[in-house]
Amino acid sequence: MPELNKLEQIYEGKAKKVFRTENPDIYWIEYKDSATAFNGEKKAEIENKGVLNNRISALFFQYLAKQGVPSHFVELINDREMLVKSLQIIPVEVVARNIVAGSLAKRVGQPEGTPLAKPVLEFYYKDDALGDPMINEYHIAAMEWATPEQMDVIKAIALKVNEILKEFLAGLNIDLVDFKLEFGLHNGEVLLGDEISPDTCRFWDSRTREKLDKDRFRRDMGGLEEAYREILNRLEGKLKG
Ligand code: UDP
Repeated sequence: MPELNKLEQIYEGKAKKVFRTENPDIYWIEYKDSATAFNGEKKAEIENKGVLNNRISALFFQYLAKQGVPSHFVELINDREMLVKSLQIIPVEVVARNIVAGSLAKRVGQPEGTPLAKPVLEFYYKDDALGDPMINEYHIAAMEWATPEQMDVIKAIALKVNEILKEFLAGLNIDLVDFKLEFGLHNGEVLLGDEISPDTCRFWDSRTREKLDKDRFRRDMGGLEEAYREILNRLEGKLKG
């Protein structure tokens, strides 16, 4: 990668800032320490969260690439920043679930922790003003947010990511309860985008069932930085050892 510079900011989200580089195909992402929940209603600054999520996301994207799942990830710049391929974002959030938790527990009236007989995929329209409403594939096709062919690719990638990460994390004594993915187009190809971190996944310690993810913030449990650091330590222990 030729030397690139951080040029002007083109976008600021709840957890990340996006900057242009000299290469229109490459964006520069900075992970922030801001934590938000409930569609931005609850906010806090959590020391080091940006660093931890940047490093955790990079490790997941690198591991997935080795297993044949490409993403927008290009390389780490430093502890808080990474280079990614610029994507034309598909405005659909894809949630994959293995165990009942969060909004699914409410929707189906089942206790958190109930195992699902097979993985569940859900789709949400990515629109903060509307509170990311749940949608289905008919909406996605009719609104032309993605073609049915693109949705077939998206579903296949989401299920593959689920299988790969579920097995990998089981080896670290972590249950992959559920997670959210985002996708975009790069030269017409569907690529995994955004981040994969304890902000966007539910991770439970397999032995103690302790929560090692953003639910600690959503539910005022404290210990968020420690939980994210525990995830990073376990990943690094496996991937570097
Ligand atoms: N999720 C996310 N961003 C969102 C909504 C959900 O990253 O805007 C993740 C969340 O962290 C969890 C999974 O998607 O791992 C399923 O979330 P759920 O539908 O249970 O919603 P929540 O409990 O966050 O309201």
